[in-house]
Amino acid sequence: MTRIFNNPSDFAEEALAGFCDVHANLVRQVPGGAVRRHRPRQPKVAVLAGGGSGHYPAFAGLIGTGLADGAVVGNIFTSPSAQQAYSVAKAADSGAGVVFTYGNYAGDVMNFGMASERLAAEGIEVENVLVTDDVASAPPSESEKRRGIAGDFTVFKIMGAAAEAGADLAEVVRLGRKANDLTRTIGTAFHGCTFPGAEAPLFTLEDRQMGLGLGIHGEPGLFDTDLPPAKELGQEFVSRLLAETPHGAGDRIAVILNGLGSTKHEELFVLWLSVATLLRAAGYTLVMPEVGELVTSLDMAGVSLTVTWLDDELEPLWTAPAETPAYRRGNAALPGGEADESATAEDTEAPEAFAAAEASRDYAQQCVAALAAAREAIHDAEKFLGDLDAIAGDGDHGRGMVRGIDAASAAVADAASRGAGAGAALAAAGDAWADNAGGTSGVLWGAGLRAFGEAVGNDQAPSAAELAAAVAAFAARIAELGKAEVGDKTMVDALVPFAETFSRLTSEGAGADAGWAEAAREAASAAQATAALRPLKGRARPLAEKSVGTPDPGATSLAMVFTVFGPHLAGVRQAAGARP
Ligand code: ADP
Ligand code: MG
Repeated sequence: MTRIFNNPSDFAEEALAGFCDVHANLVRQVPGGAVRRHRPRQPKVAVLAGGGSGHYPAFAGLIGTGLADGAVVGNIFTSPSAQQAYSVAKAADSGAGVVFTYGNYAGDVMNFGMASERLAAEGIEVENVLVTDDVASAPPSESEKRRGIAGDFTVFKIMGAAAEAGADLAEVVRLGRKANDLTRTIGTAFHGCTFPGAEAPLFTLEDRQMGLGLGIHGEPGLFDTDLPPAKELGQEFVSRLLAETPHGAGDRIAVILNGLGSTKHEELFVLWLSVATLLRAAGYTLVMPEVGELVTSLDMAGVSLTVTWLDDELEPLWTAPAETPAYRRGNAALPGGEADESATAEDTEAPEAFAAAEASRDYAQQCVAALAAAREAIHDAEKFLGDLDAIAGDGDHGRGMVRGIDAASAAVADAASRGAGAGAALAAAGDAWADNAGGTSGVLWGAGLRAFGEAVGNDQAPSAAELAAAVAAFAARIAELGKAEVGDKTMVDALVPFAETFSRLTSEGAGADAGWAEAAREAASAAQATAALRPLKGRARPLAEKSVGTPDPGATSLAMVFTVFGPHLAGVRQAAGARP
């Protein structure tokens, strides 16, 4: 149970603000996350860890000498937005380039990727290092699909130490990728975590059961099994990891026995005894092992074991000193450089001036009504969508959609009230959605709405054919970013039938309103039909079997939103305002 909070949706922001206050000597809050308080004396590579909140000490607790230069902090279990990543990178960059490092999740890959494009366009050298240590999440032959869990810590530590020692960007990246290639984790869950304000945990297990192959976002284990005595659990972990010993690996290893949030240290020590004994018996020397909480999942009960096979270049980086709020080792030099007191508020830009035709301004009002209707529908469905996502994903889809639609409907209304045409108003809505929702669906919805708006433009209300082209642009942008195909069990499964039906009916001469309504029915039944599928993309993929029988949350919400959009975006007034 998470018991201490005000408004649950402010939990992550308030936790970050409190953390930055108490550790003000080491960290400084900036838009999108936090960075080191002191700027480096000389340009150094900025190692920026990131991901959702709820994993403390990952990620902001690891900011400091010898470790991260900054952390990009998303909402609970939700990828930060591209804007957040960009803004933290700008605050942390000291001229030697930046590297984003994070667990391999679709939302993070897309958002950090989009931020990287923007930074590169400004001439800042930028790289991404993904962590893929979870052996339970894909077979060895598909190790690039594995998700990142507690192995995040080893990879961040090694990169942070390399950057501190003055390595250049290419070298920090090479060492980070090497550390990741040599890192494996397996974990088990005993009890799911509970979101602040939620009444029930994301999953539960029968007494004396455990879910082997845990995720760190409340994803349940891959399969449930009897809870064995500690000795057997240690044996299970060690044998699963050693079965994946990297080719040519040496006999010195870094080891982390990680508690997920509400597992007692004493329990970890009991398990450690069996793990350490087995690893030593297998001929390994354990180098600076860690037992404690390094990557958590709110208040989840669970434990994971991480092994990183060291070599002559990784070992000194693993053992190098570090001084951060949550992790101190050895004697890290006191923070160098000047304390950075620069303002933390976001730069205020002058409001945009809009040029638009009258008909487009009128249509912008219909867009305002469309997003308001979607907002109501999504608010009503928040719990339902969260529950769908909790079955094989992380349970945040309802909350993410609410955050996205709230921001988007406010942004479209604001832009329209300032004279924006429909295109500019929808683009603003998209940007606001992506910035505020985070997560995989957030970045896709945001980019899709922007593309829709750009296609609609600001010169007229769209004809039925132009509306079909805008829907196609929405779908194309989502396909381009997410790379999902029909059948992968994602929102694309509802979107493609919608776009195809709408385009076909309008080209056959159906009115936009009738065509839209029919297309929305197609989307709803396609969304329902995803229940039979196994997910091939996104967070639900490792738990594909659990997902069978439940419709995809993103497809379900997309069908909902498109259904209520219809009367507004393709309604009678649209036809009246359209060019002949
Ligand atoms: P997250 O997965 O980051 O927690 P959400 O829970 O908000 O994000 O959204 C989950 C939904 O995102 C899934 O149900 C699926 O419809 C959609 N999704 C996941 N990956 C992709 C992808 N690569 N392309 C399109 N849609 C995706
Ligand atoms: Mg989710």
